[in-house]
Amino acid sequence: MKKNFGSKLATVALAAVVVFCVQAGLGNAAFAAPDTERYTYFDNLPLFDPLTPLQGNEMRITFMGSMIPLPVRLAQAEMSVFVEVGWVDDPSDAYYRGKPVDQFVFDMGAGTSANYAAAKVGYRRMDKIFINHLHADHMNDLIHTYCFGPASDRKSPLYVWGSKPSGVQNPSFFNASAGGCDVAGSKASGGAYYDDGVIAFCKHIREALRWHTESFSFQTTAYSGYVRPTKESWGLPHDPVPVGDDSPNDAYALVPIELDWTKVGGVAYNNASTGAKITHFPVIHARQGSMGYKLEWTTPTGAVLNMIYTSDTKPETNSIEQAKNNGLGVDVFIHEMVVPPVVWAYKNMGLNAPPAPGDPIYAEFQRTVQAMTRVQNSSHTSQGAFGYLLGQIEPRPGLTVATHFPVADDTVASALNSVKAHCPDVEMGRDIVWSFDLMVLRVFPDRIEQRRADVSRFSFTPPSRVPGGLLPPKYRDGTGTGDPYAQIDITTQIPPTNPDGTENYREDGY
Ligand SMILES: [Zn+2]
Ligand SMILES: [Zn+2]
Repeated sequence: MKKNFGSKLATVALAAVVVFCVQAGLGNAAFAAPDTERYTYFDNLPLFDPLTPLQGNEMRITFMGSMIPLPVRLAQAEMSVFVEVGWVDDPSDAYYRGKPVDQFVFDMGAGTSANYAAAKVGYRRMDKIFINHLHADHMNDLIHTYCFGPASDRKSPLYVWGSKPSGVQNPSFFNASAGGCDVAGSKASGGAYYDDGVIAFCKHIREALRWHTESFSFQTTAYSGYVRPTKESWGLPHDPVPVGDDSPNDAYALVPIELDWTKVGGVAYNNASTGAKITHFPVIHARQGSMGYKLEWTTPTGAVLNMIYTSDTKPETNSIEQAKNNGLGVDVFIHEMVVPPVVWAYKNMGLNAPPAPGDPIYAEFQRTVQAMTRVQNSSHTSQGAFGYLLGQIEPRPGLTVATHFPVADDTVASALNSVKAHCPDVEMGRDIVWSFDLMVLRVFPDRIEQRRADVSRFSFTPPSRVPGGLLPPKYRDGTGTGDPYAQIDITTQIPPTNPDGTENYREDGY
């Protein structure tokens, strides 16, 4: 396995946290809160220009979101992991200087769109979205991307991978059919099983967004020469067919790729022309249908780089076996982690520490802890379980990344303590890190570099690139030009200039 090269600066900074953690001891470390509003480790990573072209043998992983709900916080959007591989130079493009060989979005929760824009990732590069499970924090911004991509430079369909229906029985159906209504008088409207897979999801999303998509369709939304991917060219489990009535070339075509979530190692994508292959495996999270993904990329020189993103899951064996990778190990292992129910409860209640017995809010606190414990038990990997899990993976991943985690110095110090209880030799920065928005991992055959993307909080849309000819838009005038008046009634409008030539306001916008 390769060696990791985290930042020396960051290692020094983290040492202070570790020392604190050790001095505080296991019991008090979680509550002493060295700093609840700073992630020193990340702050000390070297800055990195996200427009830096990838090297030919580089896999780049950027965290565009990293937080568990509730809430989404200003410091961390909900989950999204962006992965790019390889590079094709284009000296004629002075801004981007080329493009990656292939690229993938894993999950797309609320708030992540701003991070993509800040990192100068245009919509055309966000057309392959792999959803691990259909919790809103993993797909909220899919709607944003679907709706606004065509108005920018994604003039081609949006492809969305996800699971087939869960197969979980609808208890209301069975309770109601046994005589009468279920709890709260709900009807058995969903039948014995809900159609809760990715195809139904895309069908309903597409129709729900009809007003938006029509309203924007005075702009161009399709290439004249678009070459559609096929089941064979992308190595898909089935033909890529859009839901709804959109042309399969159109940017508002939403194309679900349904995966059999029960399969371990099922192939979601296998593109011989880019060397990228993505497989999936079931994990345990909230409801059947949750999956983890493994991306393997064969570099032009034949080396294989790989990463796993399990997303949300209870500790389970598939993730371990996938990370072992038949004894070969993986470069990057991204797995969720959750804070202890006690920490979750007191922070959600706006407290700085757990209340003592006898405190007026102690009973409420206990109820909150119990509620958080139930969420953990249905869905998540505790700090200690994460440490146990990591101890089972041999060889150890090149870099393990805990994600979906409310990061700050206090929570990270506590979590590192829990992990080290199982894996005493694990070192922050070298073996494990906690993800944060705009953390960049540059993975090479011989090393992994950790960086902090240098972005502007005031960024505009990344400069668009629309190569090739475009078809006339849906709402157009007689010349085939987009007609901005086709869908509006302008009888009450105030024009820039009156019929008598007098000016109400300048036509050029100033
Ligand atoms: Zn979830
Ligand atoms: Zn989640």
